[in-house]
Amino acid sequence: MRASAYPLVEVDDAAALVMENIPVLGVERVALAHCIGRVLAEDLVAPESLPPFSASAVDGYAVRSSDAGKPLRVLGESAAGRPFAGKIAPGTAARILTGGVLPDGADCVVMVEDVRVDGDIVVTPPALKAGTNFHPPGADLRAGETVATAGTQLGAAELGLAAALGFPRLPVRRRPRVALLSTGDELVEVGAKPGSGQIVDSNRWALLAALRDAGAEVRSLGIGPDEPDALRKLVVEALREADVLVTSGGVSVGTHDLIKPLLESLGTVHVGRVKLKPGKPFTFATLRSDGRDKLAFGLPGFPVSSLVTFEVFVRPALRKMQGFATLQRPTLPVRLAYDARATADRTEFQRVTLTREGGELLARSTGSQSSSRLMSLAGAHALVRIPPGDQGVKAGSVVEATILALP
Ligand code: AMP
Ligand code: MG
Repeated sequence: MRASAYPLVEVDDAAALVMENIPVLGVERVALAHCIGRVLAEDLVAPESLPPFSASAVDGYAVRSSDAGKPLRVLGESAAGRPFAGKIAPGTAARILTGGVLPDGADCVVMVEDVRVDGDIVVTPPALKAGTNFHPPGADLRAGETVATAGTQLGAAELGLAAALGFPRLPVRRRPRVALLSTGDELVEVGAKPGSGQIVDSNRWALLAALRDAGAEVRSLGIGPDEPDALRKLVVEALREADVLVTSGGVSVGTHDLIKPLLESLGTVHVGRVKLKPGKPFTFATLRSDGRDKLAFGLPGFPVSSLVTFEVFVRPALRKMQGFATLQRPTLPVRLAYDARATADRTEFQRVTLTREGGELLARSTGSQSSSRLMSLAGAHALVRIPPGDQGVKAGSVVEATILALP
């Protein structure tokens, strides 16, 4: 064992150091079918109005409101996609179907339920109001209106609007390409039977899920050995294709912890230790590979530490790369249902479940907060930030919680 040469930095300072080194990725034009979840790179502005013409909202008759109560001669029909070519003069009407164009001369539509029909004569109610039962041009969206601003994550409604406005492709930010590596001679592949002293590599599957959920394209490098040359070869090779390297394990100060020296030899380590629990050995570096800048996150090996440092540092970074307008998860005020003990010199992120009680959210601890106990994160709804010191936060206090999932 040796003492770490890296200064212990505050969580917020570490996060700021990470973020100032994160680039925003380039733009690609992607077909609508593949745009779900992608981030819009430019404002989407309506080139035309919706609907483009006055469209009937009901099945009925297109008439002039001044003809209310009069028997009218039905001249023809305006169905969706098959407009009526003629004009509605006084004393006449046209049958109209939902989505049909309101013919010239007509100023309202009477619902079929509200008329009497006798052969080619229709009798309307005694009072009619101009402008009823049809959507005028631009009622839903006006030409020039902004549909979604750059930085918006595209969902079903935005993609429907893009299609309605005639865009088969949208400009979105490229997804970050991440190479994911677990390190440790004790690790075996899931499905293999661990021998004496061995454990299954679970971090890779947890991090793969977290990375994909955050929008990354992930290439799994498998399990790297605690052997400097082999590890270096694996990483250097992977960096050719990747924008980001994410590793777990091998970042503390044990003699087998090789990630920090490796990253140091390939670039600049900006963060090597953080006043954070769990996650003190979190490491962040910028690297050069084939003349291009790359990022590296060395996450601690303990399963909770790797996922909590992912939440605090990696997820916002991946969102910045993708051009997201909001980088952080939402926060909500919650009332602590337990006495949260603090750690003397480190900010703690405790895992809690939330329930709605009496119009507020009540936070309960998920149990032992040991960094090896992944059960403290399973089913957790939020992270509660407990400042360092000997005070802790008493039950009944209201704190801002980072929401992972709503109950
Ligand atoms: P390290 O940071 O390499 O010292 O790892 C700390 C501890 O985290 C190890 O002793 C393992 O118990 C655990 N660990 C490391 N890597 C993994 C992994 N990929 N999956 C599950 N647990 C891990
Ligand atoms: Mg290790």
